[in-house]
Amino acid sequence: MVKVEVKYNKLFINNEWTDAVSKKTFPTINPQDETVIAQVAEGDKADVDIAVAAAKRAFHRYSLWRTMDASQRGILMNKLADLMEAEARYLAELETLDCGKPVKQAEEEVYFSASVLRHYAGKADKIHGNTIPADGGVLSFTLKEPVGVCAQIIPWNYPIPMFVWKIAPAIATGCTVVVKPAEQTPLTALAMAALVKDAGFPPGVINVVPGFGPTAGAALTHHPDVDKVAFTGSTEVGRLIMSAASAVNLKRVTLELGGKSPLVVFNDTDVEKAAQIAHAAAFANGGQCCCAGTRTYVQSGIYDQFVQKATEIAKKRSVGNPFDDVEQGPQIDKEMYGKVLGYIKAGKEGGARLVAGGDKLGDKGYFIQPTVFADVKDDMKIAREEIFGPVQSILKFDTFDEIVDRANDTNYGLAAGVITNDITTALSFVKHVRAGSVWVNTYDYVTSQTPFGGFKDSGLGRELGEDGISQYLENKTVTINVPKRPQF
Ligand code: NAD
Repeated sequence: MVKVEVKYNKLFINNEWTDAVSKKTFPTINPQDETVIAQVAEGDKADVDIAVAAAKRAFHRYSLWRTMDASQRGILMNKLADLMEAEARYLAELETLDCGKPVKQAEEEVYFSASVLRHYAGKADKIHGNTIPADGGVLSFTLKEPVGVCAQIIPWNYPIPMFVWKIAPAIATGCTVVVKPAEQTPLTALAMAALVKDAGFPPGVINVVPGFGPTAGAALTHHPDVDKVAFTGSTEVGRLIMSAASAVNLKRVTLELGGKSPLVVFNDTDVEKAAQIAHAAAFANGGQCCCAGTRTYVQSGIYDQFVQKATEIAKKRSVGNPFDDVEQGPQIDKEMYGKVLGYIKAGKEGGARLVAGGDKLGDKGYFIQPTVFADVKDDMKIAREEIFGPVQSILKFDTFDEIVDRANDTNYGLAAGVITNDITTALSFVKHVRAGSVWVNTYDYVTSQTPFGGFKDSGLGRELGEDGISQYLENKTVTINVPKRPQF
């Protein structure tokens, strides 16, 4: 077993490490062997009040942060990216320890996250409004101003990327933030907080309060001094957050929620390649990916061949110690492990044809076999609900119009994919599918420049790219009286 030192386990507020006011702590568990990794300070309302007050002070009009040149914010962000890259191996190992993802993947995520910071660092001094040549004796222009104090509540499936996707556009604009990491994975957010201090950010700009959703999370979403909430997680909690955000004041809200994304494979494609793309779409990050392509629709002409290939690939998938060179580690925790096994049981009982996996793996840790069901029907539970585990459902279709209707027959709309060699088929699918990201002959291709987010119940607003930064800006319109005929 790789030994990874846990250096930080307290709250990070105003650039200081503190215990929770209640002195309470909670354990964070290693999903590989179910042991306690560390006790972490458990923030709740009292701590959130202190953190929000620090963020509010840092946002004061005469604070060091608010009076700093925008380019200096970019310099600090680039410095944080440098520090992340210098610490990439440590951050990756800590991530693997806390959430069980393969360490190679975790390391790639650190570098990707650093690139997101650099992307937004470059935007920090390029934020500006417009001039509007109004007639009638006035001149107008707009100012883009930071929204203010932002609460950022993140999940456990991509702890470092989610931390960075949240803070980067916010601090590029000059906002201040309080981040609440998921209770399953607080450790890398705290390690990132240490780097924030080393990079030289002024106190109060970035605060991290670990704790639970109904206590620390809810205190943030109800706080009168919080101007915006950005959340990634389940649609169920997204609804709670949206209503809490309008209870005390009208907070700006962005939500990145769940999905049940379709990946559609047409007859004209190379079956081997399509099966590889579909496998990665369903099983990336152990299936714990909001945009996972879990409904694999395959046209009838290649259906049997495809099922055979998908089965072979899933059976070869390596699952085990995430510190080894494997494709899949354990699921995040006991609750999700039980939930995913419950869906596998529902698939078997509902009449789907199990062609790979279908059970837990080993007796210790939350490991699940890569599982493939064929002959899945649209009304089965495994085709309708988000599983968030290593389970692929394969469904058969015949015609284009049929598959567009079936792909769209869900309340979710986060992502979709299409595999075909016919440009008309591809672009027609792109046009008619209702999803925030559509991939053609690839899947899960996310970059710092391209907006990411959902249609329908998959969310509100977008992260990354230009759209991502606009969610942290208010638009101020200034109108100046310029008489048509000056009286000098
Ligand atoms: P979750 O919604 O239970 O928790 C996410 C975060 O919200 C955690 O930090 C949690 O403590 C907090 N939280 C829980 N209850 C809260 C409350 N009442 N008030 C404020 N905060 C609260 O989700 P999860 O189980 O951690 O993550 C899995 C879900 O997240 C899946 O449904 C998945 O699709 C979704 N997800 C979506 C995206 C995306 O980008 N769209 C990314 C990752 C995960």
